[in-house]
Amino acid sequence: MTENYDTAQKIRDLAMEHNDFFRKSIPLIASENIMSPLAMEMLLTDFGFRYAEGLPHHRYYQGNFYVDQVEDITIDLAKKLFKSDQADPRPVSGTNANTSVIYGLLNPGDKISTPPLSGGGHISAAKFGAVGLRGLNIVNYPFDVENMNLDVDKTIKLIKSEKPKVCLFGQSVFLFPTPLKELKDAAAEVGSKIWYDGAHVLGLIAGGKFQDPLREGAEIITGSTHKTFPGPQHGIILGKTDEKTWKNIQRGVFPGTISNHHINAMAALGVTLAEELDYGREYAGKIIENAKYLASCLAEDGFKVLGEKNGYTESHTLVVDVRNNGGGRHVADLLEKSGIVLNKNLLPWDDGNKSQDPSGLRIGTQEVTRIGFGKSEMKEISRLIKIAVIDKKAPEVVKKDAADLKSRFKKVKYCYGDLEAYKYIKLLN
Ligand SMILES: *Cc1c(COP(=O)(O)O)cnc(C)c1O
Repeated sequence: MTENYDTAQKIRDLAMEHNDFFRKSIPLIASENIMSPLAMEMLLTDFGFRYAEGLPHHRYYQGNFYVDQVEDITIDLAKKLFKSDQADPRPVSGTNANTSVIYGLLNPGDKISTPPLSGGGHISAAKFGAVGLRGLNIVNYPFDVENMNLDVDKTIKLIKSEKPKVCLFGQSVFLFPTPLKELKDAAAEVGSKIWYDGAHVLGLIAGGKFQDPLREGAEIITGSTHKTFPGPQHGIILGKTDEKTWKNIQRGVFPGTISNHHINAMAALGVTLAEELDYGREYAGKIIENAKYLASCLAEDGFKVLGEKNGYTESHTLVVDVRNNGGGRHVADLLEKSGIVLNKNLLPWDDGNKSQDPSGLRIGTQEVTRIGFGKSEMKEISRLIKIAVIDKKAPEVVKKDAADLKSRFKKVKYCYGDLEAYKYIKLLN
């Protein structure tokens, strides 16, 4: 073999081991998911090696005859699924979708209101993220810890006094729907546009659960297409807005912030949109049911789960305060060794310098639900977390139990065809 073949093979070996690790683990990261066979197939197509700058049928390059058709279909499916007037499937990630909106709608010095990081806000909406890079003036909404949501009265006051050009809503720790209906009049009164970042909950919205931002006052939704929405790592923008605003946003996409738009991922997104039209409602309902039940099991097993007052969660996410169990970093590391993959997370009272050892854990049920986990498996997950963290059982022992549990669920569900989940697909022998 040639000189560097072994190194290339080493990368491949690591990728195989990675697949195997996830095949045997309980995946509970709230921002991840796995794809359907048909969507995965799209990622391997020649679309992934091409450019199609501009909009369908108005491109700058030749060779886009089929790309145009795929993009037209993807846009139509998105408009149908989300009942939006406009859809742009070109952003290559949620952050890119956000950046496009920021560049399209806001100029340096303009004011934007956003959820605070400590209330689960995403870094792209913070001063060191895209919002800050655009030189915007940021004001944060007041957060109500007991309700784990924005404080409605104080937020109305803030919007009326600060008069932001754009009000951005939506978080990365997103337990309960944003009270858009209660806030939209205040925004309208001062002429602010409502933009909803649905990165985490896009699949729940697609399934008609959680909330329906475009009917509750939002003009624009941005999202990642790989969290509760079980598609490729990509982004999307949805609109129910005037043509001028939409045109500005689309300029924010191209030429603003992308050149190629990962056409293979866009095709995978199109396939997933069709699958969500057929299976999304059932899937979203099950994700939320599992999250609520897992939260109550963890509480019963002795953990401090936030949001108790409102039934812990209405989404795919639940949040656990583990200050008394050794802190977020320790518990997340211990669970990883025990075959349970989740992440440590800032809780509302943590300040930013706690980000390496925050008080909490964030847990999401969307991936385990996609392979068929139900109520009894939620109970089993809770038991495994308890014996690892509270009873301090050896991680290797818990890891075996976790692998046993996982081995009973082999297929990707809520999609066309059946593919073994976490299978490594070889093209070269
Ligand atoms: C995950 C997330 C994003 C960004 O998503 P990427 O697709 O990873 O770029 C943006 N906003 C929120 C609220 C998120 O949770």
